[in-house]
Amino acid sequence: MRAAVLYEANQPMVIEDLTLEGPRAGEVLVRIAATGVCHSDYHVIDGSWHGPRYPKPVVLGHEASAVVEAIGPNVSLVKPGDHVILSFASTCGRCQACVRGEPYLCNGMRSPAGTMPDGTRRLRKGDQEINHFGQTSSFAEMAVVHESQAIPIRPDMPLDRAALIGCAVMTGVGAVLNTARVEPGSTMAVFATGGVGLNIIQGGMLANASQIIAIDLLDNKLEYAKQVGATHVINASRVDPVGAIRELTAGQGVDYAFDAIGLPQVSRQAYDSTRAGGTTVVVGIAPTGAEIPIPASIAASSKTVKGCFYGSTRPSVDFPRLVNFYLQGRLKLDEIISRRYRLDEINEAFAALARGDNARGVIVMRD
Ligand SMILES: [Zn+2]
Ligand SMILES: [Zn+2]
Repeated sequence: MRAAVLYEANQPMVIEDLTLEGPRAGEVLVRIAATGVCHSDYHVIDGSWHGPRYPKPVVLGHEASAVVEAIGPNVSLVKPGDHVILSFASTCGRCQACVRGEPYLCNGMRSPAGTMPDGTRRLRKGDQEINHFGQTSSFAEMAVVHESQAIPIRPDMPLDRAALIGCAVMTGVGAVLNTARVEPGSTMAVFATGGVGLNIIQGGMLANASQIIAIDLLDNKLEYAKQVGATHVINASRVDPVGAIRELTAGQGVDYAFDAIGLPQVSRQAYDSTRAGGTTVVVGIAPTGAEIPIPASIAASSKTVKGCFYGSTRPSVDFPRLVNFYLQGRLKLDEIISRRYRLDEINEAFAALARGDNARGVIVMRD
């Protein structure tokens, strides 16, 4: 099968013919339908995520929709022909985190970097083993994933749009509905309106927030933010966003502020823009070792700071729910796909992401 291989950071990916070993017990072979172009892949491409956790050569890609081709022994949740959205976090269903209803914190399936949940690699170019990414590696025609990572969805859901639910939409909407549990009428600020930030705004729409203030450095991204429901936009390259947010909220600050990029100075701005008793949610993944300075007066201000991984998702509950929201017209996906690419245009797709051209780019594997 064809796949895009990253041999070294800051080098173009190469489309190669790879061997993919079939599914073992508890695993599923899927044919990728569409796969989103996400910043997490780009962090590996540009070398900002590096070291032993990100071994190369690797097939990236972790936001995908697919059709089940074959199942291994002991698979009961999906069958061949099912349409699925892939989750990049396998879950065991038995550990304390899973039983508490926090499968995104599952520690029953931890495996070495670059491998499948069972610790092996199934991708090869000749004799050379190729690493997996996000236990998914969807920049390829096919993938083998653990059964818990293939979530069946309604067959009437268009697969190119379904792909986005696997990362950006789940993370953004989940940050609002699952992590923060924003109450109707709340005020929100969303820092960085890329793929995740736009979907935090969409989460605010679903939660009936009364004010959704979007902050970014690029005017085209703020336009996208307005299209999905931002009530106000602030270009932080021209004005101080904290002061502007205070002005828009009668000097109070917002109930909830979200940092969708994960930079310490942005997390701090988000914190400063919340009202006393307000909540800051850090959704973006910060550079390794970075720290956020928070005033020690947090007791008096009664503020909360929360982390949010993968929108605190329970994929088998949340993915079908988000599909329903789309099919009911309550979640915008058509509007956030700026451009579709073929697999052999993948380097162009990431160049567009680096420039901030697209709300979201999607690689469509088949029509
Ligand atoms: Zn992603
Ligand atoms: Zn678990």
